[in-house]
Amino acid sequence: MSDRRPLIAGNWKMFKTQDEAAETARHLVSLVKSVQNVDIMVAPAFTALSSVAGEIADSPVALGAQNLFWEKEGAFTGEISPLMLVALGCRYALIGHSERRQFFGETDETVNKKMGAAIHAGLIPVLCIGESNAEREAQKTFSVLETQMKTGLAGFTADSLSSLIVAYEPVWAIGTGKAATAAIAQDTHAFIRSWIKTNFGNSLANSIRILYGGSVKPDNVKELMDQPDIDGALVGGASLDAATFSQLVCF
Ligand code: PEP
Repeated sequence: MSDRRPLIAGNWKMFKTQDEAAETARHLVSLVKSVQNVDIMVAPAFTALSSVAGEIADSPVALGAQNLFWEKEGAFTGEISPLMLVALGCRYALIGHSERRQFFGETDETVNKKMGAAIHAGLIPVLCIGESNAEREAQKTFSVLETQMKTGLAGFTADSLSSLIVAYEPVWAIGTGKAATAAIAQDTHAFIRSWIKTNFGNSLANSIRILYGGSVKPDNVKELMDQPDIDGALVGGASLDAATFSQLVCF
C-alpha cells in the first residue's frame, strides 16, 4: 500500500429507490462513523442523491454522481449538469464508466468534455478506463488505456488535474465475479502511473490516486490494497449492501 490516502467508492448503478438508498446510507454511516484513515464515497442514482445526502451529512461518507453532462444548463432533455450535482452536495463524479461507454455511446471525446465540466464545477473527477477481454487477449491493454487517457485528458495541465482520480476497471472484471489478480492490477496501475508521469510530471504521478474496480469483494480487497500502486477501489455489486461495503472500507 502507498502513503496516498485510500478511497473506497461505491457505485450503486441503477439500483435502489430514494428510500432504499437512504436506508442503505443510514446503515453504512452507522458502521463507518469512526473510520478516519480512508475516504469513502457512494454514488447512488440521481433520484437518490438528495435522500442519501441527508443521511451522510456530518459523516465520513461523501456523495458522488455516476455521470454528468458538460453544459451548465440548456435544452438538453434528460441530462444533469455539474452545477446541479454540486448543489445536491456531490463531491465526486464518475466519468466514462464502461457501462456508459458500452450502452450510451460515450467516447473518449465526450469523456474529455465531461472531465472539463466536472473540474470547472469543483467536482473531483473519477476517470474510468479499462480494456475489454478481447483487447487484453490481443495484448492491447496498454495501448487501449493510453488512448483513453490521452484523449480523455487532452488539453489539461498537471495543475488542473490535481484532484484527478483514475479508476482502472477492466471490463472483463466488472460484475463477473472474476477480479483481476493483484499482480495484473498492480502491473496495470504501474503503467497508468508511469503514463501520468511521462505526460504530466512526477508530482501528479506521485499524488494521483488510482483505484481498482472489477469484482472487488471482502475476500480479495486486502490483497489488492496491499499493492503499491493501488490506492483504493471502485465497487459495484459489493457496495449495495452496507455491511459488505463496510468490510471493504475496513480492509
Ligand atoms: C463497477 O461497476 O464499477 C464495478 C466495479 O462493478 P463490480 O464491483 O460489481 O464488478
